[in-house]
Formats: sequence, structure tokens, C-alpha cells
Amino acid sequence: MELENIPAIVTGGASGLGLATAQLLASKGARVSIFDVKEGEGRSAADALGVVFNMVDVTDEASVKAGLERGEAAHGPARILVNCAGIAPGMKTVGRENIAHSLDTYRATVEVNLIGTFNVLSQFAARLAAEPALGEERGVIINTASVAAFDGQIGQAAYASSKAGVVGLTLPVARDLSQLLIRVAAIAPGVFLTPMVESFPKQVQDALGQQFPHPSRLGRPAEFAQMVEAIISNPMLNGEVIRLDGAIRMPPK
Ligand code: NAD
Repeated sequence: MELENIPAIVTGGASGLGLATAQLLASKGARVSIFDVKEGEGRSAADALGVVFNMVDVTDEASVKAGLERGEAAHGPARILVNCAGIAPGMKTVGRENIAHSLDTYRATVEVNLIGTFNVLSQFAARLAAEPALGEERGVIINTASVAAFDGQIGQAAYASSKAGVVGLTLPVARDLSQLLIRVAAIAPGVFLTPMVESFPKQVQDALGQQFPHPSRLGRPAEFAQMVEAIISNPMLNGEVIRLDGAIRMPPK
């Protein structure tokens, strides 16, 4: 699919991988709406890129519906959805003093990363179904998993299982949406230099980067965005999860 003048939604677009994606899609002529809960950062990022910000909580059905309606009023019906909204709390299954993992934290992680992804993609696809196809396709959905879906580390039970859910929905949703001519793929990033990782001390960042076989460094958000663009442009890519990780396999910790 060509990007020029195509309405696109990027969830989690106020920061990190989503922000880099919004930037790249906008630079290629897409009409981008950012969906995020961080209003201040989201609005200033959107203003800087010349795109639209919509205050949307991906876990909330009504909030997503309203965001899609506002996005449509601004740009027309979206044909591209990139789901980047996510949270990554760390907690062991049994912590200090033998305290069990907080169920609220577990639920919140699954709620944002997995249910939030499904909530946005299902409502996006339902609206897009009413639009005419552009050539052989109608639209593209790209979800963000993580290498943690496959190599979850100590303290990542909630995060890794939420991302494994994102991996698990890729093929069945691609099959469900095939009749609508909507493709679905997921990217499973290794460790990328986003605000979360930038807050670590420099030597910790370097040590993390050196664990990557090649290239021996952390990923750049622009490289994630480049993969998003590659998926959008290749009509044969469907139902697949792509690791973007410099060949790393994460150790237990
Ligand atoms: P980030 O924290 O910089 O950005 C995440 C964005 O999601 C934030 O702007 C946040 O406000 C938004 N968000 C959180 N909850 C939301 C909600 N309920 N509704 C709407 N927006 C919400 O993180 P990032 O590093 O850019 O990560 C982006 C995605 O990539 C996440 O899904 C993350 O799990 C995944 N990922 C990141 C890495 C990495 O190394 N950075 C690695 C693997 C996977």
C-alpha cells in the first residue's frame, strides 16, 4: 500500500517506537492520528510532526470508538493501524518475603498490551470493512509484540504473557480479516533505545547493547519504523510475527 494521503493511526504515538513510526509515516505523506493517554507529550509531538493527537485509552471501548470517529472526521477512514501502546512493569511471580505477584499489575499489563491491541484492531477493522478496497487490499494492521513473548526474562511473567497473546492473535486475526482484504502482522522488537531504556545509566545501556550479536548495540526507534514501512509496502506479508532483534535470544536475566 502506498502511504501518500493514506489515513493512519498509531497508538502509543506520544513516545518511543510509536513516535518514530508516526514521524516516518507522516514524512511519507500519510495522514497520521496519534492515540495516547499522555496528553501533554502527545499534543506537542503531534504539533511538531503536523499530525493529529487524540486522547485515547486503548483499554476503553468507548474511548477507542470516539478516537476513531475523531480521526475519521479529521482525515477520513483510517487504512493503517500501528499498535504501539504498551506498558512493561517488572515483577517476579513470587517476590521478596514470599509475596505473590500483584494480580492488579498482572491484569493491567494484559489489559493494555493484549486487550488494548485487540480492542483497537477490531474496531478499526469493523469501520474499514465498509470502505472500498484500494487495488487488492483494504488496509494493514501492525501490532507490537516483543522478544519477551518467546524469551521472557525473570520478572517478566505479566509482560511476556501479554506479548505472547499478541503473537497468538496474529494468525487467527489475519485469517479472520482476509475476506476483508486487511493484512495483519506483528513486530517483536529486541531492546530499543526509547525513553524507558534511555533512563538507564549509560554503562547499563552499553552493557545491554553488547549482548546483541550483530549489530552489537540497542535498536534505534527509526529502525522499528522502517520495519513498519516495509510491512505496509509488501502485500504478500500477512499473518507473520517478525523478530527485529540483532539475533539476540534473551538470557534468564
Ligand atoms: P514508551 O513507554 O516510550 O511508549 C509507550 C506509549 O504507550 C506511551 O506514550 C504511553 O503513554 C502509551 N500508552 C500506555 N498505555 C496506554 C493506554 N492505555 N492507551 C493509550 N496509550 C497508552 O514505550 P516504547 O519503548 O516505545 O514501547 C512501545 C511498544 O513496543 C510497547 O508495546 C512495548 O511493549 C514494545 N516493545 C518495546 C521495546 C523496547 O525496547 N523499547 C522492546 C520490545 C517491545
